[in-house]
This record gives sequence, C-alpha cells and structure tokens, in this order.
Amino acid sequence: MNPYDYVKKEPYQLYIDGVFVVPEDKVTFDIQNPVKNQIFAKAYKAGKPEVTRAVKAARKAFDEGPWGKMPPRERSKLLLKAGQILEQRKEEFSCIETLECGKSYAGARYFEAEMSVDAFEYYAGKARCLEGKAVPIDNNTVNLVQWYPHGVVGEILPWNGPLMMGCQKICAILAAGNTAIVKPSSWASLSMLLLAEVFDEAGFPSGVVNVLTGSGSVIGDMLVKSPDVDMVAMTGGTSTGKHIIEASKDTVKDVALELGGKSPNIIFDDVDIDDAVKWARWAFTQNSGQVCVSGTRLIVQRSIYEQFIEKLQSECEKLIPGDGFDPKTTLTSLIHRDHAQSVWEYIEKGKAEGARLVCGGEPYTDQKLTAGNFVPPTLFADVTPDMTIFKEEIFGPVLCITPFDSEAEAIALANSTEYGLAGGVFTKNMKRGLRVAQKIHSGQIYVNSYFSKAMIESPGTGWKQSGLGVAGIQKYMISKTIFIDTQEGSLPM
Ligand code: NAD
Repeated sequence: MNPYDYVKKEPYQLYIDGVFVVPEDKVTFDIQNPVKNQIFAKAYKAGKPEVTRAVKAARKAFDEGPWGKMPPRERSKLLLKAGQILEQRKEEFSCIETLECGKSYAGARYFEAEMSVDAFEYYAGKARCLEGKAVPIDNNTVNLVQWYPHGVVGEILPWNGPLMMGCQKICAILAAGNTAIVKPSSWASLSMLLLAEVFDEAGFPSGVVNVLTGSGSVIGDMLVKSPDVDMVAMTGGTSTGKHIIEASKDTVKDVALELGGKSPNIIFDDVDIDDAVKWARWAFTQNSGQVCVSGTRLIVQRSIYEQFIEKLQSECEKLIPGDGFDPKTTLTSLIHRDHAQSVWEYIEKGKAEGARLVCGGEPYTDQKLTAGNFVPPTLFADVTPDMTIFKEEIFGPVLCITPFDSEAEAIALANSTEYGLAGGVFTKNMKRGLRVAQKIHSGQIYVNSYFSKAMIESPGTGWKQSGLGVAGIQKYMISKTIFIDTQEGSLPM
C-alpha cells in the first residue's frame, strides 16, 4: 500500500468531548515530511476557545460523567478494546509516523505501533491491580492509604516518539481513572489525532480523551495555568520544563516532567571492542540521535581510546542515509529544518571550541539528501567537560568522546553535566559494572547493552535536570491517608 493513501485530504480535526471539530477560527498548520521537506497534510490549530471547551469536557467527564464512577474493570475493558483496534491499524499508524517524523518504517512499526499496542494491554491489566495499603498503627486505629486519580490531566508530548509516548502516557492516565487533554508537538501531530479515532471507536465516554493540536505556548500554557486542570505532565526539553514550573506556580498543581538528557556511555578496556563499538554507534545514531536517552557522551578507557575511535568511525561511515521507507536506510532524517539547524550550530561550536572532528561534521552534498534534514554521524574526540557540546543536549547524531584512566575518573566525567536521564557501562567485570551503574547519577542505566528493554513495565525517572516526579501509573495518582478510630470514647484528653 502507498503510505500516502493513508493521508486524509481534508485538514485533520481536533477531538473534543467525543466529537471531531473544526476550531472557531478555522486556522490550520502544515504537516511536513522531513525527508523532502514537503507538505503532505494539514491539521487544525486549537485556539483559546477550543482549550476552554476541552477543559470543560474533561472536567465534566471526570466530575459528573460515567467515567468518574466507572469501576476499574470497565476501564480495563475499554483499554483492551482500544488496543485491539490499534492492533488492526498498526500498518496505517506506522506509515503516518514514518511520513511525519522521517523515522525508519521498521522502527515505527516496532518502537511506535507494536509498543503502543503493548501499552494498552499492560495498562488494561494495571487498571485492575491498583492497590493501597493498611498501616499497623495501634489497636484502636485502622490506617488506610489509598491512591486516587488526580482528575483532569493535561499531557503535553514531544515529537520524537509521538505515538508510543502518547500511548504510554494516555493509557496510564486512563488506567488510573483520570480524564485527559492531550497536546502533541506541532512537528508530530497526526498519530494523536488518529488515536482519537481509536478511543472514539472503542466507546470511551465523551470528554474522557481530548486531543488538541497547535501551539505549545497557547494550548500548553493554558493547560498549565487553568485551575480546572488538576495535573500537567510534559515530556520535552528542559527549558520548556522550567517554563512550566514557573507558569504553574499560581495553581500549585501537580507537575510531572520528563526532560532532556546528555547520557554517558562508559567503555572499559576489558570489553569485546567490536561488539562495544556496534553498541556505541547504535546508542547515538538510533532515530538519528533523536532519543532522549541516547548515549551521546562516550567515555573510553585510554588504553583502547584511539583503537575504539578508529573502529567507531568505520562503523559510522557504513551508515546509509535515506528515506525511512527504504529498507536499505540506516540513518534517517532529522524531524525539521529548524532542528537540523540547531544541530549544525552545535557542530560548529564543537569545532570552534577545539574538539577533534573525526568524521561527519559537514553537510551531505547529494541532492536527494540536501532536500531533507540529514546530518551525517559526527564524531568529536578529545571533548572536555567545559565544552558546550559536552554539556548541552544536541539531539542529533553527534557523539562527544572523552578518554579516562581510572574508574573514579570515568564516574566523575559521567556525572559532570546537569542532566541525569540514562547511561551505559560496558565491561566484562560484572562487579565493576554494577558498582559503576550504582554511582552514575541517572534514572536508567544499561550494562553491556544500550536502551531500555521494558519501557512500559519499567520506565526510567529523570534525575537532576532530566525530570521531575516519578514515572508510570503512580505519576498520575495522588495518595490519601485515612485514620479510622475503632474504639468508643477514645479521645486522648
Ligand atoms: P519541547 O520542549 O520543544 O516541546 C515539548 C512539548 O511542549 C511540545 O508539545 C510543545 O508544543 C510544548 N510546549 C512548548 N512551549 C510550551 C509552553 N510554554 N507551555 C507548555 N507547553 C509547551 O520538546 P521537543 O523538542 O518536542 O522534544 C525533544 C525534547 O524532549 C528533548 O529534549 C528530549 O530529550 C526530550 N524528551 C524526553 C523524554 C524523557 O523521557 N525524559 C522522552 C522524549 C523526549
């Protein structure tokens, strides 16, 4: 099937209160394919009236509608049904993700569509396993700790894993019993608008899920500031997260943030070098480096430093840039011209600040690639902690390589940024592997591999400036502790 056959001719509509709607001012924005920078669809932009409507609908669905009274087992059935509908539409969702985000089709199929179905199945089960506890206090008291949904949750999403991240979050929100207003990134909006069709077909009551596309500074800001939104969760850049913390102060609402990273990947000299080189390459070029947990700071023991770099360069030079639909492609396009521009600015800073450019670092000249947003895998060696490229998230296929001599030095280097999202350790010495994993100040560590093996069951938490709050279903719940006195006349004074 031609992927464009899945694209709607009319602008994609917002989803509010169980209805697909055109906003009052009928303003649209362009949806682009990053491989050619060609507009292939349009979507409506929500304005203030639509945000107000969505908040009202989500409020009503939670406070008065059937959703607020629905037992967890019924919520679970709806989630399962939606997962089955998504399963039937995996091909369509994978094509749309590949078209809009420039991802590889195989990656979109597995990391986006398959894992999204998995999120529905997992959280359908989770909805039925929500537990509190009874705390032993004394013979006169029963103390219950119960977990409640927050109520209305505003979920603000990034563009780099729009379907999977959206499903992972929305399923947790709904399993916990909340209602949701979802705001995807303007660079990756279609999958959430299509997902609204899935919720609609599955029979979720009106107002339980609402999807608003458009500007972050309008929709996101209104959700953050609205006193009728009980909680806001955002996955995105750290500077946006700081803005949200500031904007939420008047309502003191719960805010959960999953933010950027600059994750270290430490290679000790006892590794199988060829194997570790392949992992190191995968860790920073998967989805062209547009993964929050990418291993973008390679910290290599000095005794194998030059050998490792040489082999890594040769691995990088094997990558084939191209369209994600072409099965030969092993390096995909960046999401947007503006984002590629920001990556190029970092590359220039790396050169200017004296890092040794090993490979990449110059634009492709092939016309097929210059039409898109391709950046070659770029290796900078001898990068020091004071350099901008060591400290800041670049979010492209750019790797900073730094040598170390001792284990203590490797750990100190790993911990010397403001981020604390993830990290890798490669060594055959498992005592050392675990010891180093425990000392890296990050919420997620991989030993002798890279990337999570269970994003749904075991999501990582962002330490330091990589996040705020816990991950998983607990993020969308709030506790209450109840003391019940079982004795008559037990007033202490
Ligand atoms: P971004 O911060 O630019 O945007 C994220 C979302 O916030 C978008 O939907 C955007 O429209 C919205 N937004 C923008 N301004 C806002 C405002 N003033 N108020 C409320 N919302 C606003 O991030 P991005 O470029 O879409 O995504 C890339 C970033 O996301 C990277 O830094 C990456 O590391 C991070 N990320 C983190 C995780 C994680 O789990 N920690 C996962 C994926 C991506």
